[in-house]
Amino acid sequence: MTTGPITVGPLRADSGTRVSGLVPVDVGTTTLQVPVLVVHGSRPGPRVAVTAGIHGAEYVSIAALREVVLALDPATIRGSLVAVLTASPAAFAARSIYVNPLDGLNLNRQFPGDPGGSPTQRLAHWLTTAVIAGADAFVDMHCGDMNEALVSFTGIEDTGNPAVDARSRELAEAYGLRYLLIGPSPGTTTTAAAALGIPAVLAEVGGQGQWPAEDVALHAAGFRRLLRAIGITDDAPAQPAHRTEVLPTEAWMRATTTGYWHPAVAVGDRLTTGTIVGEVQDAFGRILERPAAPMEGVVIFLVSSLAMNEGDPLLALAG
Ligand SMILES: [Zn+2]
Repeated sequence: MTTGPITVGPLRADSGTRVSGLVPVDVGTTTLQVPVLVVHGSRPGPRVAVTAGIHGAEYVSIAALREVVLALDPATIRGSLVAVLTASPAAFAARSIYVNPLDGLNLNRQFPGDPGGSPTQRLAHWLTTAVIAGADAFVDMHCGDMNEALVSFTGIEDTGNPAVDARSRELAEAYGLRYLLIGPSPGTTTTAAAALGIPAVLAEVGGQGQWPAEDVALHAAGFRRLLRAIGITDDAPAQPAHRTEVLPTEAWMRATTTGYWHPAVAVGDRLTTGTIVGEVQDAFGRILERPAAPMEGVVIFLVSSLAMNEGDPLLALAG
């Protein structure tokens, strides 16, 4: 329960106010200007921290977070919200897939970060200490990257703390997406939150460099339901009719060759073990590999670009 001012860098939000601005974050080689918005309700309540744009080309999540928080009124909410509207500004500006162009690292593999490390490690440390720490719940909004199609899902950690895990599950179910993945994800925002004892939800809707209105609305509706579930707001869109299906096991398939990727499956397909998921060909059509599904499961995301590089993900299965 917070009643004193909330500060993020130079931003200071007293009770009953909303402040926004670019927060300077020194990452060693440069100083990033990170757009942050703080809505501090006039009534006490929980604090939610939320990020979008950890991956800079995941536009549905960035658009949905802006839509929700820019409309929040401090006079009507309980508690507070600290929103990082675009968490990796250099990646956003560069339209960069997977990595932060400042050092080529995937920000969502560097948490909890390192204050003396490379730019991405310093940015992760700032997000952990200045945004996630002190929150009663944390939400990280993503979607498929510019080269990825995906089905809508939430993800939570199995932290071993029953109270934290139950709260994360409750908030993920309020988000109301089609699938719920439960499992470890080292180096991510939600793992950093778990280490601080903070319930945390990863939420994924859309992808492929687009932000169609229906995907933005689905992401925004889920986040609004989460805010209602935690008690910040009273109003949210109705829960969807479908039940959330829990998928406790996940497997990522990666290319072992570089070439031209021809998938034979689609996102949302339910595969049996051994299903050939596609092939990587060389420039002249010769088959370099025909990878097979290592487990039974739903195709959660699928790389949709023709270009494929050795070591890059092809798709992920969960089941
Ligand atoms: Zn992402």
